[in-house]
Amino acid sequence: MAETPTTIHEAQAADRARGLRAVAALDGRLNGQHMPRRPEWDCTTCGQDWPCAQAQVRLSETFGRDRVGLAMYLGAVYAAAVNELPVTTTGATWFRFVSWIR
Ligand SMILES: [Zn+2]
Repeated sequence: MAETPTTIHEAQAADRARGLRAVAALDGRLNGQHMPRRPEWDCTTCGQDWPCAQAQVRLSETFGRDRVGLAMYLGAVYAAAVNELPVTTTGATWFRFVSWIR
């Protein structure tokens, strides 16, 4: 088990590492389709902003009724994406990656 971060820099590094592990797991969760093309974060299959509608459906199916697990997983993916996408002050990136889960 990883050590608990004791500084903000260690916590940020841990968040980035968790995000990259979540992104690495996407291939298995999406069967290699509707994957994000980074650092643009658009879909490799349909070209829409990722997660596109098909990726949302596949991820929802993967997690089933575990909406909290899906939200936590996409929160980790968001942690990776937010460092690569342009900065916004509107919360649009959070909405795009996490808030569609209801
Ligand atoms: Zn797509």
